[in-house]
Amino acid sequence: MLKLYNTLTRAKEDFVPLEPPQVGLYTCGPTVYNDQHVGNYRTYIFEDVLVRTLKLLGYAPRRVMNVTDVGHLTSQGDEGEDKMEVGAAREGKTAWEVARLYTDAFLADGRELNLLPPDVLCRATDFIPEQIELVRRLEIKGLAYRIADGVYFDTAKLSDYGRLMTREHLEGLKGGARVEANPEKRSLTDFALWKFSPAGRKRQMEWDSPWGRGFPGWHVECSAMAMRFLGETFDIHCGGVDHIPVHHTNEIAQSEGATGKPFARVWLHGEFLLMHSAKMAKSAGGFVTLAHVKERGFSPLDYRYHCFTAHYRRQLDFSWETLEAGRTARRRLVEAARGLGAAAPAPAGAASARFREALADDLNAPAALAVVWDALKSDAPAGEKRALLQQAESVLALGLSEPEAAETPPAAVQALLERRARARAAKDFALSDALRRDIEAAGWLAEDSKQGQTARKR
Ligand code: AMP
Ligand code: ZN
Repeated sequence: MLKLYNTLTRAKEDFVPLEPPQVGLYTCGPTVYNDQHVGNYRTYIFEDVLVRTLKLLGYAPRRVMNVTDVGHLTSQGDEGEDKMEVGAAREGKTAWEVARLYTDAFLADGRELNLLPPDVLCRATDFIPEQIELVRRLEIKGLAYRIADGVYFDTAKLSDYGRLMTREHLEGLKGGARVEANPEKRSLTDFALWKFSPAGRKRQMEWDSPWGRGFPGWHVECSAMAMRFLGETFDIHCGGVDHIPVHHTNEIAQSEGATGKPFARVWLHGEFLLMHSAKMAKSAGGFVTLAHVKERGFSPLDYRYHCFTAHYRRQLDFSWETLEAGRTARRRLVEAARGLGAAAPAPAGAASARFREALADDLNAPAALAVVWDALKSDAPAGEKRALLQQAESVLALGLSEPEAAETPPAAVQALLERRARARAAKDFALSDALRRDIEAAGWLAEDSKQGQTARKR
């Protein structure tokens, strides 16, 4: 039985989907005005483990992820600039170009981190009518009011507003909101559903609406698109812990305010990646992207391994030293996997059951990883270890079954391979065969295919 910690009930609960084996899952995606940092990727890696664990346990997840390409303002209090327009000014491009650039960069990083692509990837700007419709429903229900700069949600009208939050969240929020409070708002926690374009200034991204020209508030997109693709009530909603007090609290208010039905039944939140003891953040200056990780000679999968050294609900430190440890450990794991040779996987043993149990216990990846290490060191039959590794790779996706050809031959062998390629091109097969023997003597195999010559370790 899968158990998940539900932020809404603050308890680890048995997970029972609405319509098994289907699982409707919504995960908040990137704001595409800049590169994502490895802190963001910690959250996406935890969500990837969720999806892969659901599959391992026989569920059929349908994952929807949004791309925020409008409406996310630089301040959480519905003030400030749109992050997309800030990105556009910084890069001398249009907001639309910036959105495309960083959406593509996000997807490319995801491929290198072995993140399964979502079943639905939806851009906020493609669903403006759905968002306007949601605001209209709230207005009809008397839950929205209009002031000079936009249409706002009236949080005082909902008796259970903020039930996702703890008392500390609420206090933190009030402390912060007071500084930037819009005096026209009825309550500090009220938030924008629709913002008007600033008078006399044309925005790059703006639309007509029943209230005036403008753009949707950030939270509206997630409510509208989650309900559009998963229905008014669905199974799981995820994001980072920073989303609990504002973004997710407001998604619940809008969705349940409009439908009168429960929105997501289970809420999962991933803890922060820290650098120098603080949350890694774009605003904090010192943040690390996947490009930095690769520049320093690490594989993106070394970072993935590092993420599995802490449970997703615990904070995790990032430094180049900890990443080094991740790389060493992953390499040893890959070598151990190769050392098993070609043994056919035997029926799953006790370790495979323990591996599943670890993940079924609120996605305990560190415990699952420990099961793999213990099994590899044990004297279990090689076939059983191979079965476990196959199962482990389906969830951890650490490149344990990378083809050996991925290793590059040393320079001396490389030189022999190049000479052999030239000999073959010149149809000098005697020389080509002689070189093949030299290459073999150096511990490598030259293989010929339609694509040309490849090499792998003997
Ligand atoms: P954003 O692009 O800022 O909307 O963030 C994308 C996702 O990354 C959200 O789910 C955030 O909660 C998450 N996130 C942001 N910073 C961190 C961090 N330092 N560690 C883990 N997750 C983070
Ligand atoms: Zn969201």
